[in-house]
Amino acid sequence: MTDQQQIETLRKELRQHNHNYYVLDTPTVSDYEFDLLLKKLQELEQKHPEFHDPTSPTLRVGGAVTKNFETVVHDHRMYSLDNSYSKEDLEDWEKRIARVLGDAEVTFTCELKYDGASISLTYENGQLARAVTRGDGTQGDNVTTNIKTIKSVPLQLKGDYPPKFDIRGEIVLPFEGFALMNKERIANGEEPYMNPRNTASGSLKLQDSALVAQRPLDCLLYGIVGEKTGIESQWQMLEKARDWGFKVPTVAKLCKTVEEVLEFVEYWDLHRHDLPYETDGVVIKVNNLQQQDELGFTSKSPRWAMAYKFKAEQVSTVLNEITYQVGRTGAITPVANLQPVLLAGTTVKRASLHNADQIAKLDIREKDTVFVEKGGEIIPKIIKVDLGKRPAGSVPTNYIDHCPECGTPLTRTEGDAKHYCTNYYGCPPQITGRIQHYISRKAMDIEGMGSETVELLFKEGLITNYADLYTLTKEQVMPLERMAEKSAENLVKGVAASVQIPFERVLFALGIRFVGETVAKKLARAYKNIDMLMNASEEELVAVDEIGERIARSVVEFFRNQTNVETVERLKEYGVQFSLSEAQLENQTDTLKGLTVVVSGVFETVGRSELKKLIEDNGGKVGASISSKTAYLVAGDKMGPSKRSKAEGLGVPIISEQEFLGLLQ
Ligand code: AMP
Ligand code: ZN
Repeated sequence: MTDQQQIETLRKELRQHNHNYYVLDTPTVSDYEFDLLLKKLQELEQKHPEFHDPTSPTLRVGGAVTKNFETVVHDHRMYSLDNSYSKEDLEDWEKRIARVLGDAEVTFTCELKYDGASISLTYENGQLARAVTRGDGTQGDNVTTNIKTIKSVPLQLKGDYPPKFDIRGEIVLPFEGFALMNKERIANGEEPYMNPRNTASGSLKLQDSALVAQRPLDCLLYGIVGEKTGIESQWQMLEKARDWGFKVPTVAKLCKTVEEVLEFVEYWDLHRHDLPYETDGVVIKVNNLQQQDELGFTSKSPRWAMAYKFKAEQVSTVLNEITYQVGRTGAITPVANLQPVLLAGTTVKRASLHNADQIAKLDIREKDTVFVEKGGEIIPKIIKVDLGKRPAGSVPTNYIDHCPECGTPLTRTEGDAKHYCTNYYGCPPQITGRIQHYISRKAMDIEGMGSETVELLFKEGLITNYADLYTLTKEQVMPLERMAEKSAENLVKGVAASVQIPFERVLFALGIRFVGETVAKKLARAYKNIDMLMNASEEELVAVDEIGERIARSVVEFFRNQTNVETVERLKEYGVQFSLSEAQLENQTDTLKGLTVVVSGVFETVGRSELKKLIEDNGGKVGASISSKTAYLVAGDKMGPSKRSKAEGLGVPIISEQEFLGLLQ
């Protein structure tokens, strides 16, 4: 088989695997096997840039950055839907339809109304040409680079698709992925996102498509517009779209009567919580496309479709008490403690109140009867107060001004919704929170120790910061609740073993606000050891790729604090890793510091990925495309002529692989 044939075979195979996994939810190979195939394709594509294909499965990882999204006029307007809330509403709609269609028999397709961000995808000759947001319905933003990273969006269709058409759908963020994202944000000391819908639509407008690629977004399709050659009904359209490779949920039903429609609505109103993503109703459409045409549109919405909104699941209950939680970073979160009540299948005891403004806005008070609603959030929220039931003599909530755990006066900075306790070293939940973060799996991964153990050790006065962990002895730990000789031994061993954890993870473990896993890696790479990092100024930090002002300020503040410096010194004495290892350091220089280098073409001596690594190891940045900021273009064999002329036009030096290696000597 020639390389070209092999590339084509691999692309086809990988497309099918992607489809099985992301669209059908039934993978037929292991992740490992998939990765092997993908790697093989990547290598072949690198060797043969001349076989570039914009729909290749290797292009799903993103990387392109869009500063301003281009405005695009929709070929076919994106309409709203009329809403209905009752059997009567639906019967009225049926009568309006009959007035236009007379006695003709009418059937309905019922689909779920997915709650995310609307999207319109244009396919030309079976390839994704454009993805545009709904915008104002007439024109939206071109977000193609971001949409291409969503694995359930086919880049290349199969079967008997028309040469050109638009397909409409909804970009959603399934609950599970949303919860994972928030878990990570909390671990990084960031505010969790409020709900999946807003996060999904926010994702579409991210400038960096590589960030979009990391989000577990999904694309659910429901309608084709334009040339519908041969398709006669909405139902058939759903089937066709599925055949061509789109993800079209199978939860849909063809109904003959309004009664049947209502059964479908009632069923899903009850069972929608079993679905992996948010829905806010059912969309009912006249099935026959000929009839749809006859019915047409009003100025806002199709006459042939109707949304039936689920009743938001609300219950009313009594708010017994407002309590306040203190997080690892000192952020205060008010919590409503409720009279337990059943909501959407679970017993609810608590609801988030978010912050002081939220309490004031809704005028929420203790002993009030409140309406609680469950949206996509993990813990439910309070919608409003039942004022009619407010007890006599009730007074407005006085938001706390001192920390409930340590009594320190709270502060609140301009533009921050939350109050903070600044007693960094004396406030118990902040102390234990930091130690719990330090020992966590993605940080120092200390075995034999959990969150409760940290609290116990702290209560017993055995630890007040994470450096103290290294002084613990078996004898000290054994008397603790639920500890035995063996578990105490394991704990001490686990702590001792953590000195092997590499520098970048230690940096993450320190719990510097806004320094998550990725940022810690970047900083470790850029500064190589803790002393260099400690001495870095805000300006220097910001110069590091992807480090913004907020992170830079936080790092400088952390090391300006003498106690933090002392803790780090102690950790050093215990043998914790505070510099990149020999192996990591070897080959690292600052030769290319501040320089962006673009690599293009095929190389002989070292491969492309090796070249990129060399650039990064020597302090440079790998550029995705040529701009006036590019310091060098390393040109290999078979580099495209447009790249060459662009570099020449901008005066970017074009150097060979040998010349580049020479630079590093
Ligand atoms: P609205 O924004 O309330 O007027 O509702 C219209 C929106 O519902 C459309 O823009 C779609 O993005 C969305 N929608 C979600 N699911 C469906 C579906 N199955 N059929 C049609 N529209 C849907
Ligand atoms: Zn406090």
